[in-house]
Amino acid sequence: PRRLALVLGDQLDISAGLLDTLDPARDAIVMIEAREEATYLRQHKKRLVLFFAAMRHFAEALRARGFTVHYHALDGEAPAASLAAGAARHEAGEIHVTEPGDARVLEALRSRFPGLVIHDDGHFLTPPGRFAELSAGRRRFVLEDFYRARRRDTGWLMQGDAPEGGAWNYDRENRKSFGRAGPGTTPGRPESAPDATTRAVMAMVERIFPDAPGSTQGFAEPVTRRAALAHLRDFVERRLPRFGDHQDAIATGHATLWHARLSTSLNLKLISPREVCEAALEAYGAGAAPLNAVEGFLRQVLGWREFVREIYRAEMPGYARRNALGAEAALPGFFWTGETEMACLADAGRQLLDQGYAHHIQRLMVFGLFAMQWGAHPLRVHDWHMEMYLDAVDWVSLPNVLGMSQHADGGLVGTKPYCASGAYIDRMSDACGQCRFDPRAATGARACPFTTLYWSFLDRHRERFSGNRRMAMQLRNLERKADELPAIRKAEMALHRRLG
Ligand code: SF4
Repeated sequence: PRRLALVLGDQLDISAGLLDTLDPARDAIVMIEAREEATYLRQHKKRLVLFFAAMRHFAEALRARGFTVHYHALDGEAPAASLAAGAARHEAGEIHVTEPGDARVLEALRSRFPGLVIHDDGHFLTPPGRFAELSAGRRRFVLEDFYRARRRDTGWLMQGDAPEGGAWNYDRENRKSFGRAGPGTTPGRPESAPDATTRAVMAMVERIFPDAPGSTQGFAEPVTRRAALAHLRDFVERRLPRFGDHQDAIATGHATLWHARLSTSLNLKLISPREVCEAALEAYGAGAAPLNAVEGFLRQVLGWREFVREIYRAEMPGYARRNALGAEAALPGFFWTGETEMACLADAGRQLLDQGYAHHIQRLMVFGLFAMQWGAHPLRVHDWHMEMYLDAVDWVSLPNVLGMSQHADGGLVGTKPYCASGAYIDRMSDACGQCRFDPRAATGARACPFTTLYWSFLDRHRERFSGNRRMAMQLRNLERKADELPAIRKAEMALHRRLG
């Protein structure tokens, strides 16, 4: 063939620009279930199933359009050790690829194929060059600047030059917890029953990766564009109307609540950010969803998701090595098992092991909060996130985990560290009522580990944070704790001995 197009597992976009450049009569596509990609980290079984099942379905969709697809299955006749090794097996005048979302993969492909032709990834909303234009000459360029500019660019939720409803953000309306009554009946989400192709992948994963975390049982994620679109419709109709209100709330035993759970489909590119934003805007226009919900959703998809991708592209590869807080500890084992006495972490951990999913506030304010205050090495936290979450892809995971959640980039993506005591979790969830610890206690037999670690974290970094106005109140409260600090430090050391 004249051209060989390599399509990666997170590039399952049927309208990708690269596909338009191919002549089905002469060119070919190669897709590879590379052993290296499945094993460079020990990954959750449902994550492996998601990627391989979605890839196999996508290969069929390409063949149905008349393309020749060379597919290297992990359990097929021609398995490939790596993406580069698989692609090298085929004769090609030129090798083409859509820009990979993982700098490690891009580097490996470039060094193996010096003439590699890289195409822009048209999946994203931000036009090439726009981020550089907006951030040029700015000492600090934060999400809010980017998001407002993109609202103006798109005209989404705008009245002329003013934001719809008169405000750029409705966060204050979006922090409702469920209180003691809990969330009541929740809408749930559709389950996509695995077809024969997906069932074959599930059996393969159990056979080849018996020791990977989690189980393939109960796999119900969308692995085709058609199923992903059904999930999008379901979200817009049944969960979007209350998505904003409870964005930051946690309820024991509830994974989905009113969250979209479209990130696996978006990150594998089965659906596009444009179509999900337009669906939400249409619901707003029809009076089917309120402004606080639709604005909150747009902020995530048009704003945050695009913003972190641009940060990744601009800052890699150096970004992965950042460790502004000098954190070196290993993560405690319960991050993989959910086996801990801490009720909030046990609930989120069990759910993660079961589903390969936790919603954003569990990631940021339960797992992420614990890891940062524990002093876990930020890259290890990112690795854990890549291992355990179905929707994690390097470009989105690294700035979210290493930057937003662990503050290891020194404040590039977030203006302050998300540190808090157990009192925050008590306010936003029902976990503390079921826990043997007391969220207000930093020392003593019932000390909540979050609270112990919070004060010692602040104490360790007080100088670093003293110039940050957003940290002033927390540091003032620390002053009032001066007498208790020696006991808190001791309690922290005991925690590290017990859990480390
Ligand atoms: Fe989590 Fe502490 Fe609350 Fe227990 S008391 S659920 S450990 S925040």
